[in-house]
Amino acid sequence: MINNKLIIIGPCSLESYEQILEVSKTAKNIGTTYLRTQVFKPRTNPHSFQGLGTQGIEILNKLSGFKFVMEACSEEQLKIISPVASIIQIGARSMQNFELLKSVGKYFDQNKHEYVLLKRGFANSYEEWIYASEYLKAGGVPQEKILLCERGSRSLTSPTGTHLDFLCALKAKNAGYKVIIDPSHGTGSKEFVLPMAKASLALELDGVMIECHPTPEKSVSDAKQALSLDEVESFFKK
Ligand code: PEP
Ligand code: MN
Repeated sequence: MINNKLIIIGPCSLESYEQILEVSKTAKNIGTTYLRTQVFKPRTNPHSFQGLGTQGIEILNKLSGFKFVMEACSEEQLKIISPVASIIQIGARSMQNFELLKSVGKYFDQNKHEYVLLKRGFANSYEEWIYASEYLKAGGVPQEKILLCERGSRSLTSPTGTHLDFLCALKAKNAGYKVIIDPSHGTGSKEFVLPMAKASLALELDGVMIECHPTPEKSVSDAKQALSLDEVESFFKK
């Protein structure tokens, strides 16, 4: 936590021990323990990198003192990530996978897991997002353990093709949820990530999740929105 805000940083995809070690040093320098450590990646192109899978779990077992934010796209993946994750992420593409949502409660352990992070789908309404959270609750995840994440919608008018919707986030906050913003997927472009992160932190919301990489241009996924570790460090130090 930094100034009472939940700050999650890390690469789009976990790529290697060396990569996450570098990111973890930045996390330590800015005073957060939350790291994005995705080992299963839902990719649009089936030929794109799909994540390190169980090999990634072995890498994470070598890193201590951090809380891992990890996405699962299926019950099989939930089984694999839930022993190491602190925050279980359900991504935008899975927001209406109702069977997956219902099964999260089977793996959610109140003593081990801090939250289930539920992203708003990029073509889903506020109401659909809240109904999706109701599926998590029906499966046994208490509302106070649900962390909603606004990550932007497809837009015909935004210059980046994505519209980050602060109103949706504020409405969810007013409805009693914890809510964070993902300005990385929410803009899709590194030039806008930190301005939108700054705006997010100025709102009465609970935090941000930001993608970064030791060598952003070499990131195997979402390189266009990846910030350098120096950029992240100087932003939070300010
Ligand atoms: C992610 O945060 O790793 C991700 C895949 O984002 P989204 O589900 O918002 O596209
Ligand atoms: Mn990404």
